Amino acid sequence: MPESIPKAFISSLTAHFGEDTADRVLKALETATSVSIRLNPRKSAHVLPTKRRVPWAAQGYLLDSRPNYALDPCFHGGSYYVQDSSSMVLELLLNRCAPPRQGTYLDACAAPGGKSTILLDYLDGEGFLVANEVDGKRNAVLRENLMKWGHLNHGITSLSTDRFKDSDARFDVILIDAPCSGEGMFRKDAFARSQWSEELIDSCIRTQQNILQDLIPALKDDGLLIYATCTMNRKENEEQILHLLDTGTFELANPDLSDLKDFVLPALHGNAIIGHYLLPGISTGEGLFIAALKKKGSSESDPSSSIVHRLKNADQAFERTFPSLTPFALHFWEWKEENYGIQNAAYAPDVFYKRLGLPCYQIKGKDVIPMHGLAMMESNIDHLAVDHENALRYLRKESIYLPHEMPKGWYLISYEGIKLGWLKAIGTRTNNYYPNGLRLRI
Ligand code: SAM
Repeated sequence: MPESIPKAFISSLTAHFGEDTADRVLKALETATSVSIRLNPRKSAHVLPTKRRVPWAAQGYLLDSRPNYALDPCFHGGSYYVQDSSSMVLELLLNRCAPPRQGTYLDACAAPGGKSTILLDYLDGEGFLVANEVDGKRNAVLRENLMKWGHLNHGITSLSTDRFKDSDARFDVILIDAPCSGEGMFRKDAFARSQWSEELIDSCIRTQQNILQDLIPALKDDGLLIYATCTMNRKENEEQILHLLDTGTFELANPDLSDLKDFVLPALHGNAIIGHYLLPGISTGEGLFIAALKKKGSSESDPSSSIVHRLKNADQAFERTFPSLTPFALHFWEWKEENYGIQNAAYAPDVFYKRLGLPCYQIKGKDVIPMHGLAMMESNIDHLAVDHENALRYLRKESIYLPHEMPKGWYLISYEGIKLGWLKAIGTRTNNYYPNGLRLRI
């Protein structure tokens, strides 16, 4: 029996948007949830059967039904991310606000990582993204998703937001996709309906204000603040933006999205657009609020101390073993004898990272062992194509049957052009180096 829609929510939705819009939203909440994916522009050889595009996202597609992603090897190779189409509006907002790519970006509430993948695609190899997630379990999912996405210009932290206030890290762009009462998820998530209450909204408002207060000092003058929630009430959205404007520190920077007026509603205060809503029944996806603000002031902020002085160059043994791969990363971070490749480390602020860049290699005795991040990143290394059955065997960490006996050495296994991971051929046998933690268990 699905959890019913709270009556107090229906009243507040109607008061907020008017009867017609509220009716459309409420009707949509009784229909099947939307399904959409965003292709990885660096890996999009494979497209699930779909022709319906998300109007505001170049790589976004709407699916007719939910496939079993776990049985699609391309999903494990990071060829696409399963993401609500409303969230993809961040791509449009970035393109229209056009913050400089040579900068330092923070995704303050990042797990499971969907919006971080959009930020990384926007950066397109320039600048640096700090993806922060305070919750340990969710942070592990974030690390996995960003490893699959394959970009080297990011680091992952697990800090409470007040730690940024106390650091000298300064950001050109901060995204706060804030914890919220989740009204926009009512169709997708019965738990969101059951836990909804006025008290929950009040506690979310306090958390959102704390996060905002902690991070405002970390935004550079003239920097861009993007605030988003997956809820639909004024208190967590418009009122938070109005509160920020009242401080005198910010001005609105919302782009004109009127070309999408059939899908995206402006959140108005007088004549001013203080944000935008994507609503179920009106847009193609679930509920989302998003707003962009610019921090006033033009003084040059002191640059953050960079992590770069704590990094090293590639080991010669690695360069000898994988000569075609060495130019990609300028710096390496060593953690527990694992070496992580990083791009644009000069933009990486000196904060406490859980991971920096992507895991590339370990040195064991005389051997250089390639790591999974090296398989996930863009590279021109040859790969060994396998069929669907062998791709799944590989992802389950079973032995796979090679087409013929291969010379001893390391091979990148691929399916439909998407790299899945490393394999070592030893005469007639192979050793499967797919990471234990990612092993497919079905
Ligand atoms: N941006 C993510 C994405 O696109 O995949 C979704 C983020 S989700 C809406 C909000 C996140 O904020 C959750 O992962 C949650 O663990 C985190 N969070 C909860 N309380 C927090 C707090 N007090 N400070 C910072 N983050 C918090």
